[in-house]
Amino acid sequence: MTAAGDAARARSLANARASAGAALADATKRAAQETAADRATTAAHPRIADVPSPVWTSPVTGSCRGSSTAGYPNGLIPRSALCPLWGASNHVLRSDATAAFNRLSQASAQEFSSPICVTDSYRTLAAQIDVKQSKPALAAIAGTSRHGLGIAVDLGCGVESAGSAQFTWLKRNAALYGWLHPAWAERQNGPFEPWHWEYTG
Ligand SMILES: [Zn+2]
Repeated sequence: MTAAGDAARARSLANARASAGAALADATKRAAQETAADRATTAAHPRIADVPSPVWTSPVTGSCRGSSTAGYPNGLIPRSALCPLWGASNHVLRSDATAAFNRLSQASAQEFSSPICVTDSYRTLAAQIDVKQSKPALAAIAGTSRHGLGIAVDLGCGVESAGSAQFTWLKRNAALYGWLHPAWAERQNGPFEPWHWEYTG
């Protein structure tokens, strides 16, 4: 072992420590900015109920901020503008719909011990064309679905059955978070789709 080798190792260790310190400072700053942004979002949406003590440790909104979907045609919103759902991260919605849905899902988890089950969310134009071909009576005309705007979900684990405890709970609570079961999807208006819910803000 040489003195030169020792010096080089000491230098690289010091460099690694310095960059770890800088990364930590960056992360701390980002977290503070995100907390401030969360407060601003909550203040702007007083209808979204606070969940005082979430039973789940993962963040309600995560770090996803998405971006504006304005100007994008139905079903052609870039993935980078959308945010994943809590407990169903393979599903995405417009960022404001995601934040509200995640709070709703947290509240539901306090009642039913698990996040709301999601079977469908944002639907691309190509997927809308496929669904219309396979379920012509149930699917919207391709390019007009609220799934294509990133503001509709299809739900499972009980919600798909009207009269279930899960469906009844959602009917009672979803509006507190800006979500609803639209009138056209009610039994008397047909087609009856208890699983389909929309964000109205
Ligand atoms: Zn649907």
